[in-house]
Amino acid sequence: MSALVPTYARATLAFVKGQGVYLETAEGEKYLDFGAGVAVASLGHAHPALVGALCDQARTLWHTSNLYSIPGQERLGGRLCDATFADQVFFANSGAEAMECAIKMARKYHAAQGAGERYRIITFEGAFHGRTLATISAGGKAEHLEGFGPPVDGFDHVPLGDLDAVRGAISGETAAIAIEPLLGEGGILTVPWKFLRDLRALADENGLLLIFDEVQTGIARTGKLFAYEWAGMTPDIMAVAKGLGGGFPVGACLATKEAAQGLTAGTHGSTFGGNPLAMAVGNAVLDVVLAPGFLPRVQDTAVALKQKLAGLRDEFPDVIEEVRGEGLMVGLKCAVPSQQLIEALFEERLLTVPAGDNVVRLLPPLIVEPEHIGVACDRLHAACGRISASLK
Ligand SMILES: *Cc1c(COP(=O)(O)O)cnc(C)c1O
Repeated sequence: MSALVPTYARATLAFVKGQGVYLETAEGEKYLDFGAGVAVASLGHAHPALVGALCDQARTLWHTSNLYSIPGQERLGGRLCDATFADQVFFANSGAEAMECAIKMARKYHAAQGAGERYRIITFEGAFHGRTLATISAGGKAEHLEGFGPPVDGFDHVPLGDLDAVRGAISGETAAIAIEPLLGEGGILTVPWKFLRDLRALADENGLLLIFDEVQTGIARTGKLFAYEWAGMTPDIMAVAKGLGGGFPVGACLATKEAAQGLTAGTHGSTFGGNPLAMAVGNAVLDVVLAPGFLPRVQDTAVALKQKLAGLRDEFPDVIEEVRGEGLMVGLKCAVPSQQLIEALFEERLLTVPAGDNVVRLLPPLIVEPEHIGVACDRLHAACGRISASLK
């Protein structure tokens, strides 16, 4: 019996080494990693700049706590603000914690203005915001809530993309609207960018804060540094995590000065949040992602991938129903059970990630080269061919 709480349906396979877009087992079998640890290993495995930054910091100083100034936090925070709409950043260790901060910040914003009754947040059906009690309540998925007692109060769920439903859910108790600009776990579900602009307008009309959960979409995953840039608007608060640490745990809640005004000294905190090791790696990730030419390269690679995938969909409509997503956050909506495709790809040594709505997610490291796209699509072709033949 494993000593681990069995919360994950894990594959028995273990990887012991990683290099770039490849993972290796103890037996030396190499897998092409188009999951990147669920959009986390943004720069692939063992990127020399990240390894260097982490080792240098490890030899210098690991932890001091937020009782003191942390130069790496000031630097990473400043750089994230310079690159976005935000004025201020709170550092945490995970996506759920970044969202938890966003939720608390939105509530406190209104409370600080004497409107503590405005604590409710409108969220969207199919969304995923994390696994803490508050974030499972925000997500509202029945399987995540089942057996954990009363959900945290204060979340109103509306259908994705339904502006009238959002309008109808706004009351004198509403504090904010929270959305993933492109739903990841839910199945790479997109909303028109216009819907995000409409939410912005609706929030402004009603004095609400607009929260974006960019935990998965952030750090260039969609081809822009953050997905909100595609929509030509800005949120008030944004949760970031996965790709920011390239595999080192880190989360961040970014906000305008206005939105963050309620979180004064003593109102929120984290022992590990913004620890020097995490900040060193986060800064190294930004060095690479913000370098000239990086984002256009991600966009070009994404176009090449999408074109090849569209070809596969045309060739195997009995396996792949639809190709969707943005940048290197791609979903294959399957015509067969998605697990069947994932397993067939696994046999081809191509790693992918399941998602809701019968979707297989492709989330390659952002440093993926056209050559790897070619290899991945050859393996997809082989897997789809085998499945398609078995259907006949
Ligand atoms: C992964 C994810 C989270 C939760 O992040 P954790 O680090 O697992 O807590 C929250 N929101 C979105 C959109 C995510 O993809």
